[in-house]
Amino acid sequence: MIEVERLTKRYGPATAVEDVSFACRPGTVTGFLGPNGAGKSTTMRMICGLTPASSGTATVLGVPFRSLPNPGRHVGVLLDASAQHAGRTGRETLALTAQLLGVPSARADQMLETVGLAGKAAGRRVGNYSLGMRQRLGIAQALVGDPSVLILDEPANGLDPEGIYWMRTLLRGFADRGGTVLLSSHLLHEVEAVADTLVVIAGGRVVANGTKSELLAPS
Ligand code: ADP
Ligand code: ADP
Repeated sequence: MIEVERLTKRYGPATAVEDVSFACRPGTVTGFLGPNGAGKSTTMRMICGLTPASSGTATVLGVPFRSLPNPGRHVGVLLDASAQHAGRTGRETLALTAQLLGVPSARADQMLETVGLAGKAAGRRVGNYSLGMRQRLGIAQALVGDPSVLILDEPANGLDPEGIYWMRTLLRGFADRGGTVLLSSHLLHEVEAVADTLVVIAGGRVVANGTKSELLAPS
């Protein structure tokens, strides 16, 4: 469960996010849709306690993100795959995440399989990965703690069509097992096939919020 209540972020005179409210429920994928610069990343960073809100509140599993004990065991986060350490291999990166989270390394190996990076790819340095491979690794990092909530910022960036289909299947399965997913994209087609609910943001404000059938059904 994620609950966002009137979140606002100002940078000096500029307002990046204004009065944004929505909820993400267990068993559902919420697509967070909006053009570049709309305020998606800022909202997600505020949810994760990485950017302080100017006003408003966000809770994950009922408490502010930073109040969660060992948050990575409850919430998997992918905010910026390009922040991964370029000098480490994929396997080292994921093993480190597992270690930080107190998860057995066997789980890290299993996640490499899940995201399609087992074998040769796991031994390559992340600096030599394509963006799509970084996204896959980021999804593995987000999943390795066996969370019940996923917060993924533009995870489809750099994925090829096969990768987008793969991710969609993975996220659908995660939600169908009771997980909560918040998934951002600037492209409708990336979220509409997997999302149950859409929150559309433009210019820092929510301009539409409803189930996919409510928002996309022909009138
Ligand atoms: P999105 O993720 O939808 O592309 P962002 O949340 O990254 O949008 O950005 C929303 C707005 O906030 C943009 O106008 C962006 O330029 C601005 N912004 C984001 N981060 C900062 C920052 N650190 N300082 C000033 N402005 C920022
Ligand atoms: P470094 O910055 O030296 O690479 P960090 O201690 O920041 O090491 O974390 C290692 C990696 O683990 C980072 O790429 C970080 O994004 C990732 N990570 C840590 N906790 C989580 C989490 N809960 N969900 C997803 N990735 C995580």
